Parts: sequence; structure tokens; C-alpha cells
Amino acid sequence: MNQDFYTQLSHQSISGQELDDATCRAILLGDGVDLLPLINAAYTVRKHFRGLEVVIHIINNAQNGHCPEDCHYCAQAKSSEAQIEEYGLKSEEEMLAEAREAYSKGAYRYCMVYAGRGASEQRIERLSRLIRKIKAEFPKNEICVSTGFVTPPGARELKSAGLDRLNHNLNSSESFYPNICTTHTFSDRLNTLMAAKEAGIEVCSGMIAGMGEAHSDVIEIAKRLRSIKAASIPVNFLIPIEGNKLSVPQGLTPQYCLRILCLFRFLNPDAEIRVGAGREGHLRSMEIMSLYPASSLFLQGYLNTKGSSNARTLRMIKDAGFEIKSDENLDHLIAAETEDISIQGFDDAKAIIKDLKDLRPVLKA
Ligand code: SF4
Repeated sequence: MNQDFYTQLSHQSISGQELDDATCRAILLGDGVDLLPLINAAYTVRKHFRGLEVVIHIINNAQNGHCPEDCHYCAQAKSSEAQIEEYGLKSEEEMLAEAREAYSKGAYRYCMVYAGRGASEQRIERLSRLIRKIKAEFPKNEICVSTGFVTPPGARELKSAGLDRLNHNLNSSESFYPNICTTHTFSDRLNTLMAAKEAGIEVCSGMIAGMGEAHSDVIEIAKRLRSIKAASIPVNFLIPIEGNKLSVPQGLTPQYCLRILCLFRFLNPDAEIRVGAGREGHLRSMEIMSLYPASSLFLQGYLNTKGSSNARTLRMIKDAGFEIKSDENLDHLIAAETEDISIQGFDDAKAIIKDLKDLRPVLKA
């Protein structure tokens, strides 16, 4: 393709035109579409809407395991035999203390994730109380909650408590969904996103690549997220967790991961696209390139698996000249953590599972 093709991609995306499926397919497959000019075209769109900012998310696994659902990619699913540290609901004090720690490490948004099918009235009540407390202490920072299915009244209650975002990933296309979960449907997930939107809560919803889906599924999910105007889109890459039903990533190369991120940027030009779980192990030496299409990432690993050390991630962002969206000066963190700068998530074969001190850092022994 000549330069006009790439210029046209950026223009089309910035002006709000949806790319046709043939173009999307060429972007993913690389049919005559070179990677470097493609990334540059996606970066033009990212820069137009998000500048150089990088938004850091830190996930708090508020309750680990005990989930009756059978999402095949999840170590907390009833069908998983992964050796994770299971525990019940963390106390309000623990969640508050971990929020303080997350914001001090540069997190702009604190993500509280609760395993399970859905949020009961009691859970919505408890969560609303916690959200109010965090917001009172950190009015400038944001909160995101992931708590399974949420009803319209539940969403309204969370909104009035001050919730900024609700996460509920669609994960894959509607037609592929039965391959990754049998205890609920794609529509169930979509209904929760609609409830959040109707309540005026921003929606965070993304995908997991590498579960055996076709290129057409990737295109379909990117377009679906566009149609619901998801404000935040985590693009995750399947983490090889031993014991999970889906434990072997399929078809992911560093270059393909970057192409997926570019596609998501073109189709969701102003969204906060996040290079999500598994970036370290799947992008490897190409990791920094992900921040040209994406504008956000996770710090401190994922729900049950380790990622890069904080120092390595923060240094990578600064080295490339991006700007972390935080009021904190993080230079001391980069300097303080040089000893574990080599930690880079998983190798090709399997992920490193978090232990209790990663999952509950403020809990006293
Ligand atoms: S993804 Fe959520 S609903 Fe599915 S098994 Fe994991 S914790 Fe349960």
C-alpha cells in the first residue's frame, strides 16, 4: 500500500467513518499493509484524541475465586483447576488502604474487581458505601468496578454513589461466545452494559484475543464496542494459566497483537484503548510499540497473574516520551525498584501466579 492508504486510514477514523470489513481484514492479516506505517497511522488518531497521555490502571482483586460461572479463560471459574490463592470479600478498611496505595503509585483509576455471576442488592449497597468513602478521600481520581451482571436499579445506585465506570468485558463476538462460556450468554453481558449506560455510568468493555477466534470475530467485537460507544476498551491477550480450560493462546504474535490494537484504535478513535492483560508475554520486545495505538495500561499485573515490575513499566512509558496521567511524582518509584526490573510477566509457556502478598499488599500477617 502507498502512503495515501495510511493517511486515508487516519482521516477516515478521525472523521468518524467506520472502516469496511475488507480493510479491517487487511489490517489484521497484513495483506500489503506494513506494520510501521500502520502503527504511525493509528498513532495519528491516538494523538488527535488522547495526546501523549498514558492512563494507569491498578486492579484490586477484591475477592478471589469462588465463582460459579465457567468462563474458560478465567482462573476463578468453577471449571478451572488453576492454583490460585482463594479468599472471600476483602474488608472495607483493606479496600480503602489499597486504594490509597494504588493512587500513590500513579493509578488514575482504581479498578475493584469482584468475582461472581452478578451483584446482589447487598453487594451493591456495600459497594456504594465504599465508593462514597474513596471518592471523599480522592475526589480527583476515578473508580471503576467490575462485579458481574448489574441490573438497572443497581446501576443507578452505583451511579449515585459516584461510580465513574463499570467494567464488563464482552470478550469475544456473539457467535464465538458459546466457545468460551456455557453458563451465561453474550446478551447477558450486553444487558449489563446497557444498564450502566442508561444510568449514566461510563462503560469499560473489551476483548480477549488468542482464544481460537477468527479474524472476523475480532473485527465484529471491535465494531460492537464502537456501536455501544465504550469509553474504555481493554484489549487483553490470553494469559496461559495452567489449569484453565483455555490455557494455550492461539495465533498471537507480537505483530498480530499490535495489528489488533491498531484496528481497535481506528474503529474506536476517541476511546481509552488499553493494552491489557498479557502484554508483556505476548508483545515481548515490541511492548512499547503498543502505546502508539493504545493510551492506557495496567500496572502491577492482572487479577491472578504477575506482569512487569512497576519500575520497568513506568520506565518504559517515560523512555518513549509518553506522559503519565497522575498528580504523583513517580520518579522515586522507578529508582526504588531497580532490583526487580527484570520481571517481565510470563514466558511463552505459562504465567506466574500471584501470591497473597501481591494480592493483599496491605494485609498484616
Ligand atoms: S470472568 Fe468473572 S464471571 Fe467469569 S468465571 Fe471469572 S470471575 Fe466468574
